Amino acid sequence: MDSERHVIEDGGVAIQGDTIVAVGKRTDLESQSNDARTIDASGTLVIPGLINGHAHAAMSLFRGIAEDHSLDDWLQRYIFSAEARNVTEEFVLWGTRLGLLEMVRGGVTTFADMYYFEDVVARVTKEAGMRGILGETILDFPAPDNKNVAAAFAYTETFIRRWKNDPLITPAVAPHSIYTLSEENLRAAAALARREGVPILIHIAEAPFETELSRTKYGLSPIAYLEKIGVLGPDVIGAHCIWADAEDIAKLVRYGVGSVHNPSSNMKLASGVMPVVDMLAAGEPVGLATDSAASNNNQDLFQEMNIATKLQKVFRRDPRALPAWQVVEMATIGGARALHLDRQIGSLEPGKQADLVLIGTGATHSTPMYNVYSQLVYALNAHDVRTVVIAGRVVMEDRINFTLNKPEILAKAHAYQRKVAASLIAPPAI
Ligand SMILES: [Zn+2]
Repeated sequence: MDSERHVIEDGGVAIQGDTIVAVGKRTDLESQSNDARTIDASGTLVIPGLINGHAHAAMSLFRGIAEDHSLDDWLQRYIFSAEARNVTEEFVLWGTRLGLLEMVRGGVTTFADMYYFEDVVARVTKEAGMRGILGETILDFPAPDNKNVAAAFAYTETFIRRWKNDPLITPAVAPHSIYTLSEENLRAAAALARREGVPILIHIAEAPFETELSRTKYGLSPIAYLEKIGVLGPDVIGAHCIWADAEDIAKLVRYGVGSVHNPSSNMKLASGVMPVVDMLAAGEPVGLATDSAASNNNQDLFQEMNIATKLQKVFRRDPRALPAWQVVEMATIGGARALHLDRQIGSLEPGKQADLVLIGTGATHSTPMYNVYSQLVYALNAHDVRTVVIAGRVVMEDRINFTLNKPEILAKAHAYQRKVAASLIAPPAI
């Protein structure tokens, strides 16, 4: 995923510490690094680590609790109440471990996350050896941890100071959305991010009700409103950005906003279709993401790649829309651009962080292989991921996880299932 999208047959990657030092022909690299530890990658594709640009990892424990509702109904009637009854520090600890275990096993090396008890998320991210852009969700109403917005701001400030210089964690300010925060608090969130020099994670123009509210209340589209109150900027990472017309897209480009597409979640909640093709054509950086397991219901970026391209083809009634190579870009270098981290990650190039994934190509469903991009998007899946390296550290090899304890995490998730099911007002239909 370098600028010319080089694909090297029988290639190799040389890593020193956390950094890629050479990419080239295997035979050339082997002769230069005699004393190195070697991972045999024959029969695999070696690709840059996948980037999940928008998640709420801990919600993996809510996988499947409320299905077939619109976003406002789903949030207001089901999710916020399930969170009020269940989300504790312990819940976030095990939920995040479950979410990150699934991500690593599916080749994700970097993720962006906004949730509660985000300090726990940061600790689990470190434990997993993953890279995270993490922000404590700020809302005008009480959250499971912070009982008011002032507490959420104070939490965020402490969180940023604690994690600012960590090599794997990028702390962020995460105002939830324009419909859960007042103008004053949105402005304050942006001001805090700029004072601290950290990114802003926010849901933008996700559902028709948000656009309606914005037009009625402010006479502006959600994106125009965010521009007016000074939130848009080159540090913003906007999840969804579905209800964006040509003028809105021009604004996103002008301010250098990164947008993140969540096709499964958007389809499931019938939120709408992000104008990905128009955004890319306008020069906007667009990443790809799973959103939470409560609205997806997995953390599988291979599935998102597959759905993203097919959704655009149907939506635009054009089979040429969003070809496979472009959607692989969204999951790697495009996602890095959208998260404003493209100088560090997103491609296999000397000087970049050593985040890479080995994908087995020998399965029935991926034989034969004529084109690597088609194979990645249309044939391979998360279970084909063999080995994952993040910042030069092998966190999974031949599907054995070294940083996260799979049996323990699954046992805990089963225990939480009973607890969560008992707490629900409307239990999920069988
Ligand atoms: Zn979200």
